Amino acid sequence: MKKKVILLKIEEYQHQLIYSKLKKAIQENFSLKELYPTADKILLKPNLLIPVPAKEAITTHPAVISAVGCILKDMGFSVSIADNPSVFNTQNKVSYVYQQTGVSAIAGEYGFNLLYPEKSYIREGIPLSWWSKDFAIVNIAKAKTHSLTTLTLAVKNLYGCISGAHKSYLHRCYPRPQDFIKVLLQLYCLLKPPLSIIDGVVSLQGEGPASNGEPVKTNFIALGNDALALDKVVSNYLGVAQSRNPLINKAVEAGLVDEDIEVISEFRRQQIKGFSLPKSSSLNYLPNFLLRLASNCLKIRPAVNKKICVGCGDCQRICPAAAVTIENGKACIKRSKCILCMCCSEVCRFNAIDSKRSFFLKLI
Ligand code: SF4
Ligand code: SF4
Repeated sequence: MKKKVILLKIEEYQHQLIYSKLKKAIQENFSLKELYPTADKILLKPNLLIPVPAKEAITTHPAVISAVGCILKDMGFSVSIADNPSVFNTQNKVSYVYQQTGVSAIAGEYGFNLLYPEKSYIREGIPLSWWSKDFAIVNIAKAKTHSLTTLTLAVKNLYGCISGAHKSYLHRCYPRPQDFIKVLLQLYCLLKPPLSIIDGVVSLQGEGPASNGEPVKTNFIALGNDALALDKVVSNYLGVAQSRNPLINKAVEAGLVDEDIEVISEFRRQQIKGFSLPKSSSLNYLPNFLLRLASNCLKIRPAVNKKICVGCGDCQRICPAAAVTIENGKACIKRSKCILCMCCSEVCRFNAIDSKRSFFLKLI
């Protein structure tokens, strides 16, 4: 099937507006019955990273999720929603994330089921939540920056199909960004969601993917029948060239990216200007030989701002390397244990963990 990406201009989070534009775009460009021929049970997989309100642009906006869910319900599918947030995944904690992100409210209003990460299973060596086996996935990502992968779009959103504790474990097994990206591509090949959507009405720029990032209006929703093709087009639209996006770069090397993508855009310009990337993305400008030679001098480390830290312990619980302790009510990071995965920064709701560049990286 030819890979196709549609970029829609959408400036507001209004359920009815998004529903109408997305429905028209889907009907004109894809057949849902062809994309999901055997499934009647559909799972919407948004990005619900941490328990914060949608206005912070860290999570997929509920108006996008509800619009997609209603389109599918109209076509006779039964619709459920699930994600594995960056919290320890007890039902209570995930339920709190669903409430805070506005997902519980839309589930109640439109009759979608909410699922919880009760059990997992192993598929080709990757531990996945049970629902990724029993349901067909519609992938609904958020457009954000990410300190490890520069951007997090449709492919990275699939990482949430892995349960919370296993996500940390994989970070510990693959601490180098290039190896972590290989895991993401393996996950993409394994799950290949037939339809992916990216919420970029308001995106997160700067030090994403969580509270250190900054919401910025980018006024688009993009959709496509291949998550990697969609990421390639949206990455370019956000002004990140293919060679500067490590995930796309690695996918091109692996022969996974199709050059022949049909793009239909409601925008006249091909790229937006001024979308700011994380400090760590400066590493993407260095040639590989220099990175290898000087990798010890070119690092981004987490740094706790003790004035802001409230000692909640979320970073300690998520840390895959047991590098965080709480001392005198504040988080402390042991440098010798830290594998620089930045999960602690991601999970902190109080914006108390910053990314600190080494001296040489600052110079660069
Ligand atoms: S750094 Fe953030 S997550 Fe860690 S204890 Fe402090 S407030 Fe909690
Ligand atoms: S301290 Fe933070 S960056 Fe270091 S290993 Fe733990 S979670 Fe990862």
